[in-house]
Amino acid sequence: MKKKTQLIHGGISSDPYTGAVSLPIYQSSTFKQDGVGNFTYEYARTGNPTREALEKLIADIEGGARGFAFGSGMAAITAVVHLFSSGDHLILTDDVYGGSFRVMTKVFNRFGIEVSFIDTTDLDAVKAEIRPETKAIFVETPTNPLLKVTDIKAVSAIAKEHHLLFIVDNTFSTPYWQNPIALGADIVLHSATKYLGGHSDVVAGLAVTATEELGEDLHFIQNSTGGILGPQDSWILMRGIKTLGIRMEEIESNTKAIIEMLQEEEDAVGKIFYPGLADHPGHEVHQSQAGGFGGMVSFTVENEEKAREVVKNVRYFTLAESLGAVESLISVPPLMTHASIPRERRLELGIEDGLVRISVGLEDAEDLVEDLRSALRK
Ligand SMILES: *Cc1c(COP(=O)(O)O)cnc(C)c1O
Repeated sequence: MKKKTQLIHGGISSDPYTGAVSLPIYQSSTFKQDGVGNFTYEYARTGNPTREALEKLIADIEGGARGFAFGSGMAAITAVVHLFSSGDHLILTDDVYGGSFRVMTKVFNRFGIEVSFIDTTDLDAVKAEIRPETKAIFVETPTNPLLKVTDIKAVSAIAKEHHLLFIVDNTFSTPYWQNPIALGADIVLHSATKYLGGHSDVVAGLAVTATEELGEDLHFIQNSTGGILGPQDSWILMRGIKTLGIRMEEIESNTKAIIEMLQEEEDAVGKIFYPGLADHPGHEVHQSQAGGFGGMVSFTVENEEKAREVVKNVRYFTLAESLGAVESLISVPPLMTHASIPRERRLELGIEDGLVRISVGLEDAEDLVEDLRSALRK
């Protein structure tokens, strides 16, 4: 089955009980048993048919054994970290999502889980960080906001050699373009709030395990800790996923048009960060592991003041955090998502004061190009 077909016919594509083509929202917390212990569903934290349909769908489209839906991307990440114990050490990409950094350094540190943040684009740096108590490598690729690319296959080989669990946050690429399990990952994570939902209307997280065995472990955590996604949001997410393919294709072509414009506006635009550009350091690796480059682009303008002006002067780009929606979004990471990082550290990471990030949406490409061009020229 090809990807676009799988997005629609994967998982449980119609209701096995009624034949309903749109799988119903089973708004039920408990289920009648035919006799003691004789049931398909028992209690909705453990399993709900609407959530299960979504979980089967994400497992199918990521090419994994089991899928799990949570109340947010952070709840999915939290559940996965619960697979580890006090004294375990994890290696994470140094510019992981801010919330992942926060939960590891402000919450899980209090439970004795140690972490190192490493530039995972540097394979020797990853190897050098492995200790006897290291249990996993957790990468994000491409990253936010500089779109750094980690070689999934190469890190997977390192993880296998040292018997480590390999976890990939695949939010930016989406399962339409990139399937980390096929490249050796054990667990794939998503903030489904972004591209999978795709319409800025739901907060959700998904996790997929490569094996049934790991799936059993994660289901035990999901059921024990309880951060599940409700049936309504599960339904909204399935509805979003059906159009993921055409959305990602259109976003790809809109992004291409915007990149061409940014390259032309040399007076206003400095560096452009996009894995689709041949001079991007991760271009070749990304091309080898993903089918598309996505709709996230960062670029620099002269300074903070100019960045503030650009985001004020656009009409079709909404000034907001988050990404991956039908609406194009714009932000200034050093003033918004990355404001809590000290300026000196930000500059070390390459996050300049005039860095602007866009998440390209589904508006008409010409409108988007003209809108951003005129804001840059003002
Ligand atoms: C947004 C995001 C998260 C967190 O997801 P929420 O749904 O906001 O909890 C995790 N990883 C990445 C890469 C994200 O962009």
